[in-house]
Amino acid sequence: MNEKIIIQEIQSLYMALNKVVLPLYRFKNCPKCGGNVMNILRISPTGKSIEYSCENCGEVLKEKIIAGKNPVKALNLQDSIKSKLHKLVSLIGDEVHKREIDITFTINRP
Ligand SMILES: [Zn+2]
Repeated sequence: MNEKIIIQEIQSLYMALNKVVLPLYRFKNCPKCGGNVMNILRISPTGKSIEYSCENCGEVLKEKIIAGKNPVKALNLQDSIKSKLHKLVSLIGDEVHKREIDITFTINRP
């Protein structure tokens, strides 16, 4: 499979994941710089918490899942992204292309 196709697939999986996580966790604007454009770093294996970082200053933030929300869809998307990233790295032999993928999402200001 062509690496450009894999990159597009990863991109669209991230777009889907960003949409799915927004109602699950109480994202905050960055306490350091006020930024609201974020990158998902990882969702815990149970989905109970998420780590994300500020696109502007790199501050790492962590939130717990909102009570009663189901993280299964987010976890499945995360797994798909992981396996596609592995595929991409095994195909091209380095991680440069991973950093070219735009994974940002914007949280709504309160
Ligand atoms: Zn920031």
